[in-house]
Amino acid sequence: MRDPRHDILFEPLQIGPKTAKNRFYQVPHCNGGGYRDPSAVVEMRRTKAEGGWGVIFTEQTEIHPTSEITPFIEQHLWDDRDIPALARMAEAMKGNGALAGIQLAYSGINGPNLYSREVPLAVTGGPILTFTSDPVQARTMDRQDIQDLRRWFRNAFRRAHQAGFDLICLYGAHGFGILQHFLSRATNHRTDEYGGSLENRGRFLREVVEDMRETTKGEMAVTLRMSLHEAGAYGFSNAELRDFIEMHGDLPDLWDLAHGTWENCSGTSRFKPEGAQEELVKGIKALTSKPVVGVGRFTSPDAMVRQIKSGILDFIGAARPSIADPFLPLKVQEGRYEDIRECIGCNICVTGDMTGSISRCTQNTAFMEEWRKGWHPDRARAKGASESVLIVGAGPTGLEAALQAARRGYKVTLAEATTVLGGRVAKERMLPGLSAWGRVSDYRTGQMAPMTNVEIYRDSRLTAEDILGMGADHVAIATGATWRRDAVARLHLHDIPTDPAMPVYSPDDLMAGRAPEGQTVTLYDDDHFYIGSVLAELLVAKGNRVHFVTPAVKVAEWTDNTLEQGTIMRRLLEIGVEINLSKAPEAIGKAGVTLGCTWTGRQTDLACDAVVHVTSRTPNDLLFHATRALDWQGAGIKTLKLIGDAAAPGPIAWATYAGRNWAETLDQPDTGDALTFRREIAALEPGASLLP
Ligand code: ADP
Ligand code: SF4
Repeated sequence: MRDPRHDILFEPLQIGPKTAKNRFYQVPHCNGGGYRDPSAVVEMRRTKAEGGWGVIFTEQTEIHPTSEITPFIEQHLWDDRDIPALARMAEAMKGNGALAGIQLAYSGINGPNLYSREVPLAVTGGPILTFTSDPVQARTMDRQDIQDLRRWFRNAFRRAHQAGFDLICLYGAHGFGILQHFLSRATNHRTDEYGGSLENRGRFLREVVEDMRETTKGEMAVTLRMSLHEAGAYGFSNAELRDFIEMHGDLPDLWDLAHGTWENCSGTSRFKPEGAQEELVKGIKALTSKPVVGVGRFTSPDAMVRQIKSGILDFIGAARPSIADPFLPLKVQEGRYEDIRECIGCNICVTGDMTGSISRCTQNTAFMEEWRKGWHPDRARAKGASESVLIVGAGPTGLEAALQAARRGYKVTLAEATTVLGGRVAKERMLPGLSAWGRVSDYRTGQMAPMTNVEIYRDSRLTAEDILGMGADHVAIATGATWRRDAVARLHLHDIPTDPAMPVYSPDDLMAGRAPEGQTVTLYDDDHFYIGSVLAELLVAKGNRVHFVTPAVKVAEWTDNTLEQGTIMRRLLEIGVEINLSKAPEAIGKAGVTLGCTWTGRQTDLACDAVVHVTSRTPNDLLFHATRALDWQGAGIKTLKLIGDAAAPGPIAWATYAGRNWAETLDQPDTGDALTFRREIAALEPGASLLP
């Protein structure tokens, strides 16, 4: 039964001409699929409707080819031909009584137009302000351009209306939307009626809202996604935002408050707790009669209720919590709190967008596979012909494999060598800032606890002979990987000369408590994700002086994709870590390392007492090979598979995905060389040249 204190989350609330059935508001979020994978996005949004969200939005939808943010893949609404895909999305969103919203964006100074090749137009011209420093400038819009832009918005309003959406969100946050560029003195240097005073800087916004109401005949609601705070002397500050809302409190039908930059808005759990934006949001509701939504990686219903009862928010905005668990609202509604799959705040979902691939989620392995593979966040396909499975190793791979196989109805045996479940996450959750990683194992062990078809054996290190004797139909070896204690990774494909007198550690050593204390340590990072910088923090906490050495031009360079790189750099500098970029050890002596510059080869000596290699991992696949060498088929085993980090080490999300994939394909017919997922291929237009 639901706790009555949570009833308030299910009170309907009006947004202009529309009424949301509850307070769960899925704010716009990217997914790496966008216009390239329309059906994959449609089915992903459909699960949110099924899961009980009151409001569901698309990702950023680019309204005109003079402004697009290639290489990032979002939605397009460039002409009427884009309507059918978006109409299908709106229909899927509205399936369970949710309101369907579309976020409209014109990127201005943020759009390099690498695909459309149009000249970018901005409030004030200048270099395009993207992550990738594209060598392109935008032209300052003149009055005619502003009129054109209003017309393009009106076209988009008409098309959004025609596609069947209920709400339109105008994007003016994260630095991505032109409405923010108009409002901010950092990006608006105009001297005409659109620049200068706050009143003037807000003119375009007022005009566009008016155009929206006229075009949609008042039948749709309009929400403004506003930047909460832009840093810097000229930034659109929180104080200015409050002034603006005070002046124009009733302009939209709802205020949607997000941060000035995406990095600040979507901080990882390593750096930002749940509800981190509260101070910036508090008090804004009193400035307007319209409802207010804000985000904060909310997964706890108590925290959500507090936001509403204390008058901070009317709607609980969520992007990542809705990705990790599309059924969050329904689970709260039904009082199934223990079933909530909480977001761990790792930002792997963001990396799909940042790499132009397709997003995945560490916690919700079905995310963006709802259509491609027919996976569901919570439901499992029926069991096949065989009965039992054995999974060896209870890391993220083994736990997900076991849970999914159990949901399908197999009799599951999970054997773990140690006394603790979780594998790598059991260790990493103890590191500075990574406690939320523990949710990966907590959720899965919690789900399996009441299941009568699951048996978990701890402290059970299986041998190949044990496996043959266990009588399972299918066996998965998910024995993980071990960090190397040498320099072999990307730069060094073979080890470097190392004096045995120098103490050398791996990340596994440090996680097992075998760490140097009070010494000078060289930490060599050729992994480039989070673990190197986390271990640097751990070493500093243990009183070591740390030299961080990386062949890359920045620390933890892959964390650009999780929006953390700048924060990590700041943290390391603040705690006194000495950073050595574009360098790598070439030899390790008994009193220090010889570093080589990766550009010039120039060598320098760095004295230290110990070395930590954060390089690469060796798959623990001996058990698999030993089992395969025996007559496993003769023992009645139908399939024997090596999965997860034991097959190919990767991030935790790759491990949970591997576990799910294994369980999904049990007893499935062998499809030979056919693709394992569905995809959409662009329809061909007539092939003739346009030249006469
Ligand atoms: P993954 O990320 O692929 O799940 P992990 O390294 O997190 O990999 O987890 C692997 C798990 O397998 C660890 O908990 C480890 O203790 C366990 N393991 C390794 N070898 C055996 C074995 N022979 N029998 C049972 N469990 C094992
Ligand atoms: Fe949360 Fe990580 Fe999933 Fe993103 S990938 S929704 S941050 S658990």
